[in-house]
Amino acid sequence: MRTVREPAELQMAVRQLRRDGMEIGFVPTMGALHAGHLSLVEIARRRGALVVVSVFVNPTQFGPGEDLDRYPRQPERDAGMLHEAGCDLLFLPSVETIYPPGNATRIHVEGAARGYEGKLRPGHFDGVATVVTILFQLVRPNFAVFGEKDAQQLAVVRQLVRDLHLPVEIVAGPTKREPDGLAMSSRNAYLSPAEREAATVLSRALAAAGDEIAAGERRAAAIRRRLRDELQTEPRFELDYADVVDALTFQPVTRLAGRVVIPVAGRVGNTRLLDNLQLELPGESGG
Ligand code: AMP
Repeated sequence: MRTVREPAELQMAVRQLRRDGMEIGFVPTMGALHAGHLSLVEIARRRGALVVVSVFVNPTQFGPGEDLDRYPRQPERDAGMLHEAGCDLLFLPSVETIYPPGNATRIHVEGAARGYEGKLRPGHFDGVATVVTILFQLVRPNFAVFGEKDAQQLAVVRQLVRDLHLPVEIVAGPTKREPDGLAMSSRNAYLSPAEREAATVLSRALAAAGDEIAAGERRAAAIRRRLRDELQTEPRFELDYADVVDALTFQPVTRLAGRVVIPVAGRVGNTRLLDNLQLELPGESGG
């Protein structure tokens, strides 16, 4: 695995990799890697592609007062893990490389970016869309792999790619979990042992909702109620939202049909936690 820091180096290395006619698969990350990230690398590898991973803590997707400064940074450990996982090229740019002095362009996505994280973290998805566009432009991958863990981000990236006609296929990877169900996240490192235990309430609530759906429930209001009841059993958890949305538009639905996502988000102590359930149900989605 090669590590590059400059765009010129990156482009030269990608050109060399592509020479043999192989596809380039790209996995953008903010580092502090875990098995969830590595599963995305594995998805790219299984498609027979050469794999480029970026590790970049993107300042423009953090709001004032958020955890930009304390976000875990461990590039050497990340590089070791990526080498082991079979990554071909690691792109490790500086903030000044991605956002040189004088840069003044931001991408603003509506649609799937409306509501939920978009509402709670104003400007967050503009930062995500901007860095993803810059990274796609630098790497020029055939496809890019994103985690279903960040379901609204995935919907926003799909919206971005559709709207700007970007020549990149978006591939989704399922959420990797700890043995007790907690979705893996770099931010789980912030949790104290008691908070870590409380955090399992998200996956428990989603499992309860999944059981209701398996038993035939299709009313979104009933699922929402079930989620809230379950989430309320954990006093340390402060709910931001729990809803049922269309997977493509990320807007709420009244009945479960087609591809739907059940996103849940909130805080345990100072740590924000996100999880969701992805479902493919009979019938037409929407409404
Ligand atoms: P991040 O480093 O948090 O920006 O995440 C980089 C990529 O990894 C994003 O596409 C995330 O959705 C994905 N990801 C994060 N956590 C997981 C997980 N537990 N399972 C699968 N993918 C994940």
